[in-house]
Amino acid sequence: MTTALFHPDVDTRPWGRLREQQLADVAPLLARLRGADAWREKLAGAPAGAAHENDLLEIPFTTKADLRGAQAETTAEQPLGTLQVADTVDLRQITSSSGTTGTPVFFGLTEYDLERWRRLIGNAYRTAGVHPGTRVAHTTGMAIVAGGLPYADGIREAGGALAWIGGQTVPRMAVGMQRTHADVLVATASFSAHFAKRCEEELNMPATALGVHTVIAGGEPGVGVPHIRQGILDAWGATRVSEFMGLGDVLPAMWAECEQGDGMHFTASPDVLVELIDPATGAHVPWEPGATGEAVYTTLTREASPVLRFRSRDQMQVQTVDCACGRTSPTVRCVGRTDDMLIFKAMNVYPSAIREVVLAAASAHLTGTMRIRKDTADQVRFDDPIPLEVELRSGTARDAAQRALDEAAEQVRQQLRVRVSIEPQQPGVIPVSDYKNALTYVAG
Ligand SMILES: [Zn+2]
Repeated sequence: MTTALFHPDVDTRPWGRLREQQLADVAPLLARLRGADAWREKLAGAPAGAAHENDLLEIPFTTKADLRGAQAETTAEQPLGTLQVADTVDLRQITSSSGTTGTPVFFGLTEYDLERWRRLIGNAYRTAGVHPGTRVAHTTGMAIVAGGLPYADGIREAGGALAWIGGQTVPRMAVGMQRTHADVLVATASFSAHFAKRCEEELNMPATALGVHTVIAGGEPGVGVPHIRQGILDAWGATRVSEFMGLGDVLPAMWAECEQGDGMHFTASPDVLVELIDPATGAHVPWEPGATGEAVYTTLTREASPVLRFRSRDQMQVQTVDCACGRTSPTVRCVGRTDDMLIFKAMNVYPSAIREVVLAAASAHLTGTMRIRKDTADQVRFDDPIPLEVELRSGTARDAAQRALDEAAEQVRQQLRVRVSIEPQQPGVIPVSDYKNALTYVAG
């Protein structure tokens, strides 16, 4: 039961064949978009369809700035601005991006979109470990965001018993989990760690007493990092962590980790076409183990607010192309955000990579919460060592941790060729959000 595929026909279809079918679906999408004023001009130089993968390169990208611009002016007749392709009378739901990186963008769903989202998000949850018999604690407090109502629909579709405990205090959530015998926890990676800590502090009860066996953790890069995974398993006494990812702008759940635990499968086929590109050149990156690129998404069937070649800024690394679970899509890890890339002297580095190396060297003394301090929001370059604040485990003295932290800085220098200046902080100094934690912040 636990490993039953949700949609065997799609899940096991050879990846190449699936992509041929998806490429065939590009032409009808382009024709539909050309019927909308806002798209006609943008698509003036684009081909009629995509017979081959390379034809996609002739189709313009959509960026987050494009989506925001499309909603600079809206009306009651066109509440989603020029993003909206369906008539307002056909809209059944409006969701929004989380707004963690700026003003939120609103998206629409028609009846058909709702049905497809439920199926596809259901597939992601089934892949991640939700099936009939599981009691699923859903911790998001906001219904309108991608992780709110759309996730709730998907959890039920996958067969789980949804216990939507979010939006309450941690003690009340913990009681809710106890009373419903929740065995699956759905949370962002940061919140799952925060929740476990608060259980201990406020209820004097370890989170391990709650009986969770699977933690479905997403929303931010890092769940693939061994020390962070182990930290989540230990905090909850769980046997499985499933990394989980999607984008409110495209589909809230598109990647989910199966029971093999070697990266996330693409679970949004056939409705969403994903490309992997080199963020600097735009060239395609092949789906081969070890390859890294930015994920770019096209919604082939979305009626209300489709997106074309949307630049996610999520940097993915391919893990496997022949997972033992039987699913034929490649598996990936999210290794960072292309927006987050920093430059120390001439070396490019992701904050998530720094975190991984530091934790590998000093996890005995650290909680895993850390952040890089920038002088300005758009600072990318560092000529002096990058200031990195790290949170000590409670009861750890600064002096006791110093040797390990020195070693961590040395490992960062050797492995990543950048210098960091590590500043240990007592627990609680670095704020932890109940949604997503940024790995960088601006001083002052
Ligand atoms: Zn698998």
